Amino acid sequence: MLSTAAILVAAGKGERAGGGVPKQYRALAGRPVLRWSLDALMRKVDRTIVVIDPDHRPLMDAAAGDLADRIQIVPGGAARTDSVRAGIAALHCGAEPDLVLVHDAARPGLDDATIDNLIRALDTASAAAPALPIADALKRVEGARVLGEAQRDGLMRVQTPQAFRFEALVRAYDAAPAGASYEDDLAIARAAGFDATLIPGDAKLMKLTHSEDFALLERLLGAYYLSCVGSGFDAHRFGEGDHVTLCGVKIKHERGIIGHSDADVGWHALTDALLGAIGAGDIGLHFPPSDPKWKGADSEIFLRHAASLVEEAGGRIVHVDVTLICERPKIGLHRDAMRARTAEALALPLPRVSVKATTTEKMGFMGREEGLAAQATATVELPR
Ligand code: MG
Repeated sequence: MLSTAAILVAAGKGERAGGGVPKQYRALAGRPVLRWSLDALMRKVDRTIVVIDPDHRPLMDAAAGDLADRIQIVPGGAARTDSVRAGIAALHCGAEPDLVLVHDAARPGLDDATIDNLIRALDTASAAAPALPIADALKRVEGARVLGEAQRDGLMRVQTPQAFRFEALVRAYDAAPAGASYEDDLAIARAAGFDATLIPGDAKLMKLTHSEDFALLERLLGAYYLSCVGSGFDAHRFGEGDHVTLCGVKIKHERGIIGHSDADVGWHALTDALLGAIGAGDIGLHFPPSDPKWKGADSEIFLRHAASLVEEAGGRIVHVDVTLICERPKIGLHRDAMRARTAEALALPLPRVSVKATTTEKMGFMGREEGLAAQATATVELPR
């Protein structure tokens, strides 16, 4: 049995993809981008080296989590080739592998089949990589001006991981002049005279470059498959006062609502619906009424907190629907404002937010105007 290793190259700045953190540490369907590749590689190879920018160490430690003691983290260099060299140097310490996969952390859609195919391809070649045909026409250009046509016959787009017999990769890098620039590791191996072969590539191995690539890859990975619907209910009693606050909108009324916070039943029911969709308890658990901190609190704090918990769970809110139940105040005039405030608080487009109202035909506590109530549902997509 041949021993295997992986060098995961993650030393780039990754700033073009936006999001505040380098792209290799940004969440893709709730998991750091780099972690996707780590999980795939560590299912298959014996040793894993991760090459990072030392400034990113705290991000790396957070991404590695429970895998931390099974990987080796080494500082990378200015250019990608320097980083791969650092990875090779790390593999020279301890038991050297027979085969090594060099993979870019910015390609998180790696699966077991690709790794198996690459390893099998090294039976007959020194180097192997996944590649896809080109479907689009190719042009030579200067800016936006077309200068001519380029033949796509005989051309392939090559992805990573690129797999090598370790000895071949070592000799290839030894032979590569420092500072020389190469298209990829396959080019370095070929420049040293090693033969390379291609295996079928995978659309899911696309490289994350721009911010919009994240949503596209999440779809390709089928990463969001669970639609969870949470429900919430809340009721409060009328009391002294001259206004009520419903779904973030202050409405003049001859009475107020009694409650520890601003007693916004609409947003309380909605907060519970969001918490329900991710199984995170209820509003009382997160904001105990016994805590003086929440006296008179703006319920937007509760709602935004529930939304942030959905995000932490790797989920995203698809749709929310609130029904206010009361005889008075009449909701109709304020419905659009309530909907807009709710959409704003949850950062959702308006069509995905519904606010409506009903009465109970003068029956029950709401009908007798002792208090008012609200119920809500929230639909959340959660990662696999
Ligand atoms: Mg309440």
